[in-house]
Amino acid sequence: MPQAVIAIHGGAGTITRAAMDANREREYTTALEQVLLAGQRVLADGGSALDAVTEAVRLLEDCPLFNAGRGAVLTHDGTYELDAAVMNGATLDAGAVACVKRLRNPVLAARAVLERSELVLFAAEGAEAFAEAQGLELVAPEYYFTQARHDQWVRARATSGMALLDHDAAALAAQAAQAGAVDPIDPDNKFGTVGAVACDAAGNLAAATSTGGVTNKQVGRVGDTPIIGAGCYADDVAAVSSTGTGEMFIRTVAAYDVSAQMRYAGLSLEESARRVVMEKLPAISGRGGLIAVDRAGNVTLPFNTEGMYRGVARVGDPVNVWIYG
Ligand code: ASP
Repeated sequence: MPQAVIAIHGGAGTITRAAMDANREREYTTALEQVLLAGQRVLADGGSALDAVTEAVRLLEDCPLFNAGRGAVLTHDGTYELDAAVMNGATLDAGAVACVKRLRNPVLAARAVLERSELVLFAAEGAEAFAEAQGLELVAPEYYFTQARHDQWVRARATSGMALLDHDAAALAAQAAQAGAVDPIDPDNKFGTVGAVACDAAGNLAAATSTGGVTNKQVGRVGDTPIIGAGCYADDVAAVSSTGTGEMFIRTVAAYDVSAQMRYAGLSLEESARRVVMEKLPAISGRGGLIAVDRAGNVTLPFNTEGMYRGVARVGDPVNVWIYG
């Protein structure tokens, strides 16, 4: 019997070395710890891996520090379009929603798709109507609003590309002075998707991922998060949740590839994940990271950026969180 374990991430990206803010850092680590404690509690009470990852991602969606649910980034048009997925490794059941604009917790809608429909991926108004019929909470767009994301969107629109260039030290210091706080990971160079993977006491695996996507994305753009096998995957070998440049994670079928290399090439969890994150993704300029767990309860959290908000909690052990490499 494995020791039940949950791991979470809150996105990967560029660390703001130039203007580190200890208080801001503590806000992030505290938020990650609270979510891990909640997930750990589900597992300690005998809950399934599926319940633990759903609860962890629900809490991350409700936390405005992360780019999912409340605190989501804005599209080019200044709207919100959210994606989420959840997968049960024991049964290969999966559910996902894409481009939803009115759901407080997209991960709960994904879970409802998994449990109460014949579908796997449900998009836009249809997904919202389904979620509403399931009794899930709808919100007005203002619910997602945070000043930080709005300011980030304004900066992104002022540049021509989809994402902002790296800040230089001077710009960061100016921003820090102005705002009074700077995130440990540069919000303009961060993939802020959230996710969770877990192995429960029975050795069953599950994964969940949720995102607002990338800042200033084109309306209608869907990344890897709700794509089973790319941003989220679980079977009886491994459970994986990704964060990063979504298009590259789709093209490398990143999450599934971790499990496939273990199953077909006999690689360890750590080596499979390392090859995906450090070799396959960089080969096509893919940036980001993933979290993964296998049925023995091994956990790996590789990323090819400078930092990734992440943490692990084993039932009965203290929780651990990290931001930097
Ligand atoms: N992977 C997400 C996407 O492409 C972005 C992220 O990880 O923050 O939508």
